[in-house]
Amino acid sequence: MRIRDVRATTVTVPLEAPLRHSNGAHWGRFVRTIVEVETDDGRLGVGEMGGGGESAEAAFRALKPYLLGHDPFDLTALQFKIMNPTASLYNNRTQLHAAIEFACLDLVGQKLGVPVYQLLGGKVRDRVPFASYLFFRYPGEGGEPEVRTPEQLVAHASELKRRHGFTVHKLKGGVFPPDYELDCYRALAEAFPQDRLRYDPNAALSVEEAVRFGRAIADLNNDYYEDPTWGLNGMRRVRERVAVPLATNTVVVSFEQLAANILQPAVDVVLLDTTFWGGVRACLKAAAVCETFQLSVSVHSSGELGVQLATMLHLGALLPNLVFPADAHYHHLTDDIIVGGKLPYVDGAIAVPAGPGLGVQVDPEKLARYADLYREVGGYMYDRDPGRPEWYPLVPNTRWADPSLPGLPLDERVTRP
Ligand code: MG
Repeated sequence: MRIRDVRATTVTVPLEAPLRHSNGAHWGRFVRTIVEVETDDGRLGVGEMGGGGESAEAAFRALKPYLLGHDPFDLTALQFKIMNPTASLYNNRTQLHAAIEFACLDLVGQKLGVPVYQLLGGKVRDRVPFASYLFFRYPGEGGEPEVRTPEQLVAHASELKRRHGFTVHKLKGGVFPPDYELDCYRALAEAFPQDRLRYDPNAALSVEEAVRFGRAIADLNNDYYEDPTWGLNGMRRVRERVAVPLATNTVVVSFEQLAANILQPAVDVVLLDTTFWGGVRACLKAAAVCETFQLSVSVHSSGELGVQLATMLHLGALLPNLVFPADAHYHHLTDDIIVGGKLPYVDGAIAVPAGPGLGVQVDPEKLARYADLYREVGGYMYDRDPGRPEWYPLVPNTRWADPSLPGLPLDERVTRP
């Protein structure tokens, strides 16, 4: 089995509503690149990467000289061919490699007639549990209400819990002043006393603000406190002064950073992302290092469609040390590009696909439809907020409520709408 062709297609799939975060927003849709790897025996493996557009598609085309004729079974060779760590000064192919690795794992699984989890050690669970991923949202085009006040947030979480069965709630913060978000977080704790919580302001807080916030939530049912501040040293200073476990998907995303975190601990929970780490196999290797040093792991979401979700499900199925439910943006999507539509949540979990390879197939009609939509509407600026276009954050962000800033609507200056 040899690779004969590689195709990358940018798609955009609508979200129920724009999702706000500390840097800006997801503007009501996700932009993703779907990668199809075709072999000389007529098989089609699929991969996925965040973002897209001409430059992403060109980056995959530029890998063809490395990939054409390559045997998808040769996964270690693939990694060194396109992601040699000593060449990483000159290229940045980690995420490209991840997408190609997903497709190769899919091809190998198809060829052998087994699911990806079976190739990589066998599953230890049939379903992967997920947290509800709560965002402050602008109103959706389909009439979905704004999520902004504590009452709206609790109503939104209640609806997600009713529909999908979540018992863990993650609040994506860093949007409003910390005291306001503290009110929101405590409102969730009060509304769902049996459930667990996690807060992630995307590293927007100063160390001192992060310590203050962390102490103010320490009495609640917290899974962990995710990336309250930026950098290993900042996280280490917070960890010394806050009792809640710290988690990250920003400061430990490579083996070198993982080693640094073991030598001088800064975080307790490493959130493994099949794209950021460079593939499912890299995540398994990182998870094994974490297991050795008794660090907890979970599965991070960088905004997935069904192909990437399948990689997260196989990873989640494989991890003996999946201590916390995974994260997914998936329930905010209105549709998917895989055959059969969106994979369902049952009791807060999604079943691990049992078919050969990744166990999901791209629906050609949906791929074409959402590629057309991308051509029609283009990309968006993830690090800009459509509701306040002139605004950008500092790190740490001290501009929540600065009335002198252009583009900051008056009602964002108050701590409580
Ligand atoms: Mg995060």
